[in-house]
Amino acid sequence: MALHTKDENVTKPESVRLTTLRKAVSGYGSVDGRYQEEVIEVASTIPPKLGAALKGVEFINGCHPWMTRKLNDCPYGTYDPAGWSDDDSYGHDWSNSIWISSQAVENKKTADVILHEIGHAATENLFDECYFPLQAEKSVKELLLQSFASHEAQASDLLADAFVIAFATHTQDLHTHYFETFNFKASKEIISKVRAAVWLCSL
Ligand SMILES: [Zn+2]
Repeated sequence: MALHTKDENVTKPESVRLTTLRKAVSGYGSVDGRYQEEVIEVASTIPPKLGAALKGVEFINGCHPWMTRKLNDCPYGTYDPAGWSDDDSYGHDWSNSIWISSQAVENKKTADVILHEIGHAATENLFDECYFPLQAEKSVKELLLQSFASHEAQASDLLADAFVIAFATHTQDLHTHYFETFNFKASKEIISKVRAAVWLCSL
């Protein structure tokens, strides 16, 4: 599915909805909203072939409540398929959302953080029930996670960082936090494999 228009795949939360979300996560001040427009603007510029991974994902400018409690800090970005809250309950209003912090926007990392989070969404939504030709025993998700297996880092975060390299529209100062932290080098072959997987699995 191609990302034809902003409205088709990227839902623009109404201001009313942001108010509702603010109430739902009150006490944590999670929903910021200062850069809501900017986050949506940048999200609408992602390569159209990634649209299939989004499945109606909503973009929210703020600190994800569960991750913020877990890290005791506001993460740059979070993909949350289930709507997790800080009290370990899920199924909240913000299920199927990508959260982008104001700090990520202020440090000009919005596009790269969005690509990383879309990498998580693609892993769950696109690669799970998709198979490379002649490799029916393992899904694309399992095979890719195997390729990024590491003792220190989560394979899913390394795979998500590979999305930044594979799909960024700029080449300067790519924000690949996990590659840098864990000194992980992705070969050209594996980046090509990630691109091929998105192409194959979004058909
Ligand atoms: Zn991640």
